[in-house]
Amino acid sequence: MSAAVEDLTDQAEMTTLDPAAAWQQHASPTDLLTAGIKQDSLGMCEAVCLQHPEALHGRDSTDQATPAHWCALLGNVGILEWLAKQGSPMTDVVVSSGMQPIHWACTRGHTEVVKLLLRLGASIDAIDIKHTTPLVIAAQYDHTLLVFYLIKARADHTILDDCRDTALHWAAYKGNVHTVGLLHYLGLAADTLDAFGSSPLHLATAQGAVGVVEYFLESTEADALLDLQDQKGRTALDVARERNHVHVQRLIERTKPRWHQRLIECFMGKAGEKVMFIFFWVNSWLTYATYYLMLAPAVGGFYQHVAYLAANAGMYFCFVTASITECGLVPTGGKQQAEYEKALTMAANGNMEEASMLPLCHTCHVVRPLRSKHCGVQKRCVSCFDHFCPYVNNTMGARNYKYFILFMAFGLVGVSMTAAACVQYLMLVGRNKWIVFQLCDYLVFTAFGLTMNGYHAHLVLHNLTTNEHINKSRYHYLKDDVGRFRNPFDAGYVNNVIDFWTRARTIEANPYHYTQLYQGRQPDARPPETPASPSLSCDEDDELIGSKNDVEAGGRAAN
Ligand SMILES: [Zn+2]
Repeated sequence: MSAAVEDLTDQAEMTTLDPAAAWQQHASPTDLLTAGIKQDSLGMCEAVCLQHPEALHGRDSTDQATPAHWCALLGNVGILEWLAKQGSPMTDVVVSSGMQPIHWACTRGHTEVVKLLLRLGASIDAIDIKHTTPLVIAAQYDHTLLVFYLIKARADHTILDDCRDTALHWAAYKGNVHTVGLLHYLGLAADTLDAFGSSPLHLATAQGAVGVVEYFLESTEADALLDLQDQKGRTALDVARERNHVHVQRLIERTKPRWHQRLIECFMGKAGEKVMFIFFWVNSWLTYATYYLMLAPAVGGFYQHVAYLAANAGMYFCFVTASITECGLVPTGGKQQAEYEKALTMAANGNMEEASMLPLCHTCHVVRPLRSKHCGVQKRCVSCFDHFCPYVNNTMGARNYKYFILFMAFGLVGVSMTAAACVQYLMLVGRNKWIVFQLCDYLVFTAFGLTMNGYHAHLVLHNLTTNEHINKSRYHYLKDDVGRFRNPFDAGYVNNVIDFWTRARTIEANPYHYTQLYQGRQPDARPPETPASPSLSCDEDDELIGSKNDVEAGGRAAN
């Protein structure tokens, strides 16, 4: 079904029919009308139909589609309205696929065309030969807002295709994590089984769609979904193993660890993060023993040792504070959820442009504040998300990043003082293998500390987060009109440091501080356009795994 549409799409893009050449080739009148539509030329369409009124009711010779199909595919509302006035059919099907113009419009996410076709008499629940509805097609092609529009316009989401798949099955199979989140939120059951006994989780697993699998594993139904078996008696974990999707397999195993995995986790952490933590502690305490038993009695003065002690005390205080302070989770529920639903309703009412300016998180059900990111570890959106630190074992965000910076600064003083004391010892007392080893160890730490402190100082001075710095090309607000990097929050070194230092309070008072700051500074108070509204995605960094080119209704279940 959809494979056919993709072929047509290619043709629409690649074969720009030259009208003069077409005349010469004795193309049919409908071919000429189609050529006019592809060139977005109402004048040409009118000219063709003046001479050949029958063109309005014919089919093009290659795809056997009506003129309305082409308008729907190309999103040409103006010509479609004109065609309707001329009496051209709006609901005829392409015989080979059973698809109406409304189906074609859904492959491209043309909400305006869908609305017009519905006004012109198309059925919102029209089915093609594979029993696929417009809603299912919109879900397949990840047109999240169109999916919402169709459901709000009362599309019947209980209609199953000929493999008994729902829109949620398809979105999961295609790895469309935002559409999955929305459909699930709108009430489509995640435990529905299709003709092969596959749940949406089975299909996402079979495709190695990491984002969707993560979404289901984070849901409250995770345990029940993991127990579901398909007709061959396989759970999602079995499918992951069979298909050799190692990453997905690990994700599932981590959600439902066996006893020996739990034991390993106990010592190493879920992602091995405790190894670094343990290394840090063991290394530190070995060094303290060395410092106070060997170095301090032999070299250095009172103030040197007090300074060393103070630097270490500061480091530990900041380490613990960064580790236990809540990172700056974006509030959910209540007002936030109401705003989220308002944005969705705006889209459903057809105000797509307005709605697409609001970045939504379909997992947290919030309008995401600027500079925030959905954190996979916290399972929540985090204000001014910086990074997840395995060392500190916490996410660094608006509320605790400054403690992380101080931790590194004190740490650098501590490690470089250790290295200095080792040098003093070797010069004054003489050679000692253990001290040489400690010196090497701490020279490495000093180099590492200098690099890390330098990098983060640079970020603070330029008012950037690590995430923004690494992914700057993905954020519309970090670009100027011609797409060059431009940081709207950079207000000079002094102001940037003040902003960094007071961020926890700022965000607590107003989670949308940076959104409002940005909008206030924009000349026309609107973010630059982004193609296909990626701003609507929960997270620009999410991996959307799953090929867009393998949609073939039926025969694609996890078998
Ligand atoms: Zn979120």
